[in-house]
Amino acid sequence: MNQLKPSLLDFTKEELASKIKPAFRAKQIFGWLYHNYVENFDEMQNIPKVLRKELSQNYLINPLKIAKKEVSSDGTIKYLFELQDGKTMETVWLKMKDDIYEDGKLIQEAKYTVCVSSQVGCKVGCSFCLTAKGGFTRDLSAGEIVAQVLAVKKDNNHEHNRRVNIVYMGMGEPLDNLDNLTQAIKIFQDEEGLAISGKRQTVSTSGLSNKIDKLGEMDLGVHIAISLHAVDDALRTELIPMNKAHNISSIIDAVKRFPIDTRKRVMFEYLVIKDKNDDIGSAKKLVKLLSGIKAKVNLIYFNPYPGTDYKRPSRDDMVKFQEYLVNHGLLCTIRDSKGIDISAACGQLKEKELNVTN
Ligand code: SAH
Ligand code: SF4
Repeated sequence: MNQLKPSLLDFTKEELASKIKPAFRAKQIFGWLYHNYVENFDEMQNIPKVLRKELSQNYLINPLKIAKKEVSSDGTIKYLFELQDGKTMETVWLKMKDDIYEDGKLIQEAKYTVCVSSQVGCKVGCSFCLTAKGGFTRDLSAGEIVAQVLAVKKDNNHEHNRRVNIVYMGMGEPLDNLDNLTQAIKIFQDEEGLAISGKRQTVSTSGLSNKIDKLGEMDLGVHIAISLHAVDDALRTELIPMNKAHNISSIIDAVKRFPIDTRKRVMFEYLVIKDKNDDIGSAKKLVKLLSGIKAKVNLIYFNPYPGTDYKRPSRDDMVKFQEYLVNHGLLCTIRDSKGIDISAACGQLKEKELNVTN
């Protein structure tokens, strides 16, 4: 019987040191995993053969394989990954800025962001979200979260010490998988691993207010992004059903308690849907709601898909909404639709795979 083995990527360096004897081997193995991106034990040349054999009997390394890859003309790459149990989820590699050269010398490195998934499917059931349509299958393990970043860095020949930002905005609600999420955050942060500090990691949540508090208490230094999307509870509950249990004011209160780097702001994501929440009245309420919070608003165009009644707002309405916020003192950006020619919002590559024969 092929029993599923845990992955070495599930563990922090300290945990590996308590499992692998002698402990200094754990440190070497950690280097092979995070600096050399090895995927099989025989590549770990300085590790004795007996230990390699023992490890391979008890653990696997990479729990993912690339099932599908789509490359956009703007450099965005969407990966559909298959897990050990055959389930699939997706990860997006986003190129945020190009390399800048002066006199042939690299003066600024390209900036990359990895958008990772935290679950297969999602329990929250937002009415606008394609991931929600497939229901919830299971949480991702910490190793499955970690492996997404390793796999896309490796696939893009991105050395371990080149910087990436991580956004937990792929499939799933990260705070609904808090233990594995925070384990992955810690593994990413290890200075002897990928060394991705908290300030380079942003957890996007639909607003589980009690879990925002829990994450804050752990003081990992991560950023949070709140998927707000509506300024009154009736509409927000229509869009995000669990708003009944975690309403707008409970979320705002939790945000106010969250430890935030004094130089940083909390991001509020506002998905703009035509004739639902794109009016100036809503913008006005948003300004009021966020007063007293060091906030930054990111407006997102609703990205339609077959079978949805919601519509994409006009560019004109989007810009007017932004202008209102900016004129009233709020920082506000409009999210550019990276990878729009492949399948813009997270969750959509998988659905395409499932529903469309191409
Ligand atoms: N569950 C978390 C993180 C994953 S969703 C959350 O909800 O914040 C990531 C982002 O994709 C969210 O901001 C969500 O609003 C957005 N999204 C979902 N469906 C979308 C669609 N059809 N068009 C545009 N953005 C969408
Ligand atoms: Fe889940 Fe986020 Fe999609 Fe809502 S928007 S169903 S919370 S993934």
